Amino acid sequence: MKIFPQYDLSALNTLSLPGRAEYFCRFNTTSDLLCLLREADERQLKVKVLGGGSNLILQPQVSGLVIQSAMDGVVKLSEDESSVTYCVDAGLNWHQWVLRSIELGAYGLENLALIPGSVGASPVQNIGAYGVEVGQAIVAVRGVQLSTQQWMSFSQQQCSFSYRDSVFKQQFNNDFLITQVVFKLAKVFEPQVSYAPLNKMAEQALVNKLDINAQRVTDWVIGVRNSKLPNPAETPNAGSFFTNPIITKSQADELLKLFPDLPVYPLVDSLGARVKIAAGWLIDQCGWKGRSLGLAKMHDQQALVLTLKPGACQQDLVSIQQAVQADVMAKFGIQLRPEPQPFR
Ligand SMILES: Cc1cc2nc3c(=O)[nH]c(=O)nc-3n(C[C@H](O)[C@H](O)[C@H](O)COP(=O)(O)OP(=O)(O)OC[C@H]3O[C@@H](n4cnc5c(N)ncnc54)[C@H](O)[C@@H]3O)c2cc1C
Repeated sequence: MKIFPQYDLSALNTLSLPGRAEYFCRFNTTSDLLCLLREADERQLKVKVLGGGSNLILQPQVSGLVIQSAMDGVVKLSEDESSVTYCVDAGLNWHQWVLRSIELGAYGLENLALIPGSVGASPVQNIGAYGVEVGQAIVAVRGVQLSTQQWMSFSQQQCSFSYRDSVFKQQFNNDFLITQVVFKLAKVFEPQVSYAPLNKMAEQALVNKLDINAQRVTDWVIGVRNSKLPNPAETPNAGSFFTNPIITKSQADELLKLFPDLPVYPLVDSLGARVKIAAGWLIDQCGWKGRSLGLAKMHDQQALVLTLKPGACQQDLVSIQQAVQADVMAKFGIQLRPEPQPFR
C-alpha cells in the first residue's frame, strides 16, 4: 500500500475539475484501512473519503489524507422464501452491483441502473431515480467513524433516509467511512414503472406481449438515462446539480396561481404538508437551459445538469451556479441548493 503525496485528482472527479490531494491512498483490505487510519492519526492528517467522484466539487487543494476503497466483495448473508440479503463492499462500482444483483436473481435496484459512483456512497445521499430510492433496499450500513475510529453498524431506520439525505450526510457530515452496505432484495421481480417514460414502455411491451422482466426494465432505464444525461467521460458533469426544492403545500399553491404549469410532486414522508418541485423546470423557465457562462453550461436536454468545458475551473462553476440561483430566486422566490458539496 502506497501513500502518494500531492496526488492529482482531476481524473477522479466527473466534473474533471483540477485539484490535488495532500496525500492519497487506495486500500484493498480492512487491515490496510486500519493501518491508514492509524497513520493518519499519528501524523494528525484529516481523512477524507473519495468514491467515484461523481457527486462532489473538487477544490484545488484537498488537505489531509484522501482515501478510496478498492474493496469490491459481494457476500450472501441469508435468504428466506421471498428475499435474499447481500453484504456488498463500498468500493464496488454501483452500476456493476445493479447488474450483478439481477444476475443473482435479487431484485429491486433496476431503476437505479447507470447511476455513477460507488456502492459506499449510495446511502450517503440515498441515491434515487425513477421512483426508487436506495434506502428502500438497504437493511444495514457498516463502517467506521473517522474522528473516533469507532466501528458502527446502522439499521435502515438509524440511517434516517429521506430525499437525497441520510444520517451520514447530516449528523456525521463526512466523519463516517462506509465500508459495507447490506441489501435485502426480492426473489420475485416486481416492476416499478410509475415514472411516465417507463410506464409508456411497459404499456408498449404489454401490447407487444413482451415479458416485463428485470433485465428489460434495466435496459429501459439505461436507454432513458443515455438519452437525457450527458456522459461524464465526454462532457464533465455531476448529474443533477441542484436538488429539487422542498416547499410547503401552501407555498406551492401560491406559486401555482402564478405558474400553473409548475411541476409539483408529493413527498412520500410528509403526509401532504410539503411538496417537491422540479428544479430543472425552474431553471428552464429562467432561460438557462442550454445557456453558457464562461466555460460552464446548463445542459441542452436537461437544465438541471451543469456541464463544464475543457479547461474549466472551480470559478467557472461557482459563477454559473450563483447566476442560476439568483435568477431562480428573483423569479420564484426559491433558493436552489447544490447537490454536490465542495471536497476540500
Ligand atoms: C451523470 C450523472 C448522473 C447522476 N444521476 C444520479 C441519479 O439519478 N440519482 C442520484 O441520486 N444521484 C445521481 N448522481 C450523483 C452520484 O452519482 C451519486 O450521488 C453517487 O452515489 C456518488 O457516488 P460516488 O462514489 O461518486 O461519490 P463521491 O462523489 O466520491 O462522494 C460523494 C460524497 O460521498 C462521500 N463518500 C463517498 N464514498 C463514501 C464512503 N464509502 N463512505 C462515506 N462517505 C463516502 C464523499 O466523501 C462525498 O462527500 C449522478 C451523477 C452523475 C455524474
